[in-house]
Amino acid sequence: MTRHVDVVVVGGGQAGLAAGYHLRRQGLDFVVLDAQATPGGAWQHAWDSLRLFSPAAFSSLPGRLMPVRPGEEYPDAGHVVTYLGDYETRYGLPVLRPVRVLGVHDEGRLLRVETDSGTWHARAVISATGTWWRPFLPAVPGRADFGGRQLHTVSYRGPGEFAGGRVIVVGGGNSGAQIAADLAYDTELTWVTRRPPRYLADDIDGRALFDAATARRRALDEGRADTGGVASLGDIVAVPPVREARDAGLLKASPMVVRLERDGVVWADGTRAPADAVVWCTGFRPALSHLSPLGLRGPRGRIATRGTRAVGEPRLHLLGYGDWTGPASATLIGVGRTARDAAREIAGLLGRDSRRRP
Ligand code: FAD
Repeated sequence: MTRHVDVVVVGGGQAGLAAGYHLRRQGLDFVVLDAQATPGGAWQHAWDSLRLFSPAAFSSLPGRLMPVRPGEEYPDAGHVVTYLGDYETRYGLPVLRPVRVLGVHDEGRLLRVETDSGTWHARAVISATGTWWRPFLPAVPGRADFGGRQLHTVSYRGPGEFAGGRVIVVGGGNSGAQIAADLAYDTELTWVTRRPPRYLADDIDGRALFDAATARRRALDEGRADTGGVASLGDIVAVPPVREARDAGLLKASPMVVRLERDGVVWADGTRAPADAVVWCTGFRPALSHLSPLGLRGPRGRIATRGTRAVGEPRLHLLGYGDWTGPASATLIGVGRTARDAAREIAGLLGRDSRRRP
């Protein structure tokens, strides 16, 4: 069965919902197709102790504030899942689940969206599939030789299963710091980072992060020097559990290891540490395989964008993923503005197309 809409939004996490909110305001006919069985996007898969690095007051999608729970400055992932579920109900967004988009194809006047439960034809597509689904592991020599357990952030749940063990946590970002702090009390922890951990000032809030990302985008757009964005402030937001472990002296970072071997890890100076498990908190890549049929990906796998619009396909917009789709587009507070811009551009494009038609 083939169905027709103005716009198909691929992905029903926060970016897809923000897109839906603004498409509705533009009076467009759309559907959101989401591979998850339940609302909440990647947040429903986060580890138990995860704390947002942005306080609730700075973590809202357009139109509806995230409730602030008394005494909890940085919400947990469950709070976001509830918020996103409420959000799509409140606005009656047409989200279909579980529906996985397999490929987006150019069919001349329309884009054809193939899914695991049928075909859609659309005049435009917004891709909002996030990054959680493409964990990145660095090519460290000997990784395949390690005899213990290896897992990425996406598979980490909590310290219980590692209790009493020797655990190496790799990564100096928010995930690495939070998971290291989580493991610091019950395991023999070694935290390795490529450079010494850079904590943001303890009193920094989500607004400062958003402002830094916006200032960077503006500078680049105006041809001025790169301000460095959020990275200029630091890599790690010291949410309370991280602050406590750091201040207790439990978060001492070692340099990155150069090799894994059967029983542990090895540093450049030959020092070795035995290990039972390695947790790779080494980031993600955009989940874009459904766009492969459009042949838009550049040499490093990235699709070139102007704002949110794909340079090579004006009917395709990308939301979330990273700053390359707009300032702070991959955050709760930032995605609203980029979703608004995408919906406006699509409305303009489709309006022009309609007028051109006989
Ligand atoms: P997702 O939440 O991943 O949603 C994408 C949806 O698309 C998913 O439901 C997925 O199943 C679906 N999908 C994927 N492929 C397909 C397909 N082919 N067909 C159909 N559906 C598909 N941001 C903040 O603002 N504050 C924070 O404190 C914060 N903390 C973070 C902590 C961690 C550990 C991580 C990884 C990120 C954090 N972020 C934070 C960043 C960001 O807000 C999240 O990554 C967020 O989940 C991104 O939302 P999204 O909608 O872009 O992607």
